[in-house]
Amino acid sequence: MQNIVILGSTGSIGESALKLLKDFPREFKVLGLSTRANVELLAKQVKLFNPEYVSINDLAAVVRFKKLLKGRSNVKVYEGMDGLLAMLEDKRIDRVLLAISGAQALLPLLKIIRQGKIVALANKEALVACGELVMQEARKFKSLIIPVDSEQSAIWQCLRGQESRYLNKIYLTASGGPLKDKSAAALKKITVKEVLKHPRWKMGKKITVDSATLMNKGLEVIEAMHLFKVKAQNIEVVIHPEAIIHSMVEFRDKVILAQLSDTDMRFPIQYAFTYPERMANNLKPVDFFKLKSLNFAAPDMKKFPCLGLAYTAAQDAGTMPCVLNAANEICVDCFLRGKLKFLGIPQVVEKVLTRHKNFLHPDLPQILEADNWARCEAKKIIGG
Ligand code: MG
Repeated sequence: MQNIVILGSTGSIGESALKLLKDFPREFKVLGLSTRANVELLAKQVKLFNPEYVSINDLAAVVRFKKLLKGRSNVKVYEGMDGLLAMLEDKRIDRVLLAISGAQALLPLLKIIRQGKIVALANKEALVACGELVMQEARKFKSLIIPVDSEQSAIWQCLRGQESRYLNKIYLTASGGPLKDKSAAALKKITVKEVLKHPRWKMGKKITVDSATLMNKGLEVIEAMHLFKVKAQNIEVVIHPEAIIHSMVEFRDKVILAQLSDTDMRFPIQYAFTYPERMANNLKPVDFFKLKSLNFAAPDMKKFPCLGLAYTAAQDAGTMPCVLNAANEICVDCFLRGKLKFLGIPQVVEKVLTRHKNFLHPDLPQILEADNWARCEAKKIIGG
């Protein structure tokens, strides 16, 4: 029996994880859950899984949560970021699924790592902003980071039992997002509603917008650099609309290994929970005869400049990836609130990157400062 904590349990990944854990009641115990403010769903999850404790980031939501439970549950409640970090000190925790979105996952991630626990990492922004330091700490504290992002999980699985020095390049696959086939003119007046209709994956809003701009793939390039110690120029993005191949690795003898499964996040989540074991499940197998063909294309970097911006930030290294990510988080938020046009996202991110004075090999305070600076700068450029 393993003790699991899920951070961000009310998000799309958190929900998929709980759906999966329901099928393994003897293998896993849900010890703790967390949400930013969705206490209505959290209360339902508490009734179903009976965790010992929860953490709620938003203080007003804590009051609502206590009212919802009306004293019927003795679940312990941790409040705010300090509460969340304190919750993670429980020595009985075996694995933590980190499924909070955005750079706010950084402090919890470092906390889990510094306790030498296993992290099932679904968040990519923390690794993008602070990859060098995160990987350093993981080595120092012997914490294992198992990626949950479907592409990184695929690469991780393809590399099991292989020596990393034989790795030639990584093919990072991308469905292409909901706007793949739109013309450049159509992109000018694209609406939030159109962007949120993703053809393959049902995900949270932030990552769905990132999929549409291809920033998501850009962040994944940076994530893969850190996880697998590969240079950006050795990572190639391939558009693969069926989203059946979740990524591939090529070795120096030009042999390629790919990982395939049906398009369901429960596959990478399960592997991150059960690794190094594989467990039988109720998920759908790939049906090749129904699929018939798999397609591949190069990404259109002109139509989707965010991918190119991410490659540049990756090569510049230092605080640039952190600035890229922070500016993008502000832009996505403004886009979702109708304060910025779709094509404004790459424009603002590029401006912020141009204005940034890069720091190489930053420490945590420098990262946090660059993050804060980039957010202010992006807000200034967008205005209002
Ligand atoms: Mg992904």
